[in-house]
Amino acid sequence: MAFFEMAKTAIITVLKRPATRRYPAVAAKKTALSRGKVTVDPSRCISCGMCMKKCPAGAICVRKDEKTWSIDRLKCVVCNCCVDVCPVHCLTMETDYSPCMRQHQGIEVITITYVKPERPKKPVGEPEEKTQA
Ligand code: SF4
Ligand code: SF4
Repeated sequence: MAFFEMAKTAIITVLKRPATRRYPAVAAKKTALSRGKVTVDPSRCISCGMCMKKCPAGAICVRKDEKTWSIDRLKCVVCNCCVDVCPVHCLTMETDYSPCMRQHQGIEVITITYVKPERPKKPVGEPEEKTQA
């Protein structure tokens, strides 16, 4: 009986379309909810490092001194934690997948271009605001 079951499964499998795709030759299937890859808007990133702290895979590295935000695409498990935690919402989960890459090509370094706006200067001679106890 087991032989016939196995033969039946084998025949059905041969006759059906394969369950896998020949990616990247055939594009991956995606929907509006697909988690493809994380991208950052460097003009809005304030280098707070929250995404780096929350990333369970250790895929993100934020260097405040060098003004860089980097991600290791081969470590990222597309969990969306970084996108959820970013206080300025400058991270996006794109539906497009990362292209095929080798190990040394996985790290993507982005230069942060955010410039902190200057505080408006107080007019000369204006009294200091008193705080109530
Ligand atoms: S999606 Fe998840 S694993 Fe990928 S960088 Fe963000 S927190 Fe890390
Ligand atoms: S991407 Fe968002 S969470 Fe990460 S360092 Fe920049 S501002 Fe902070």
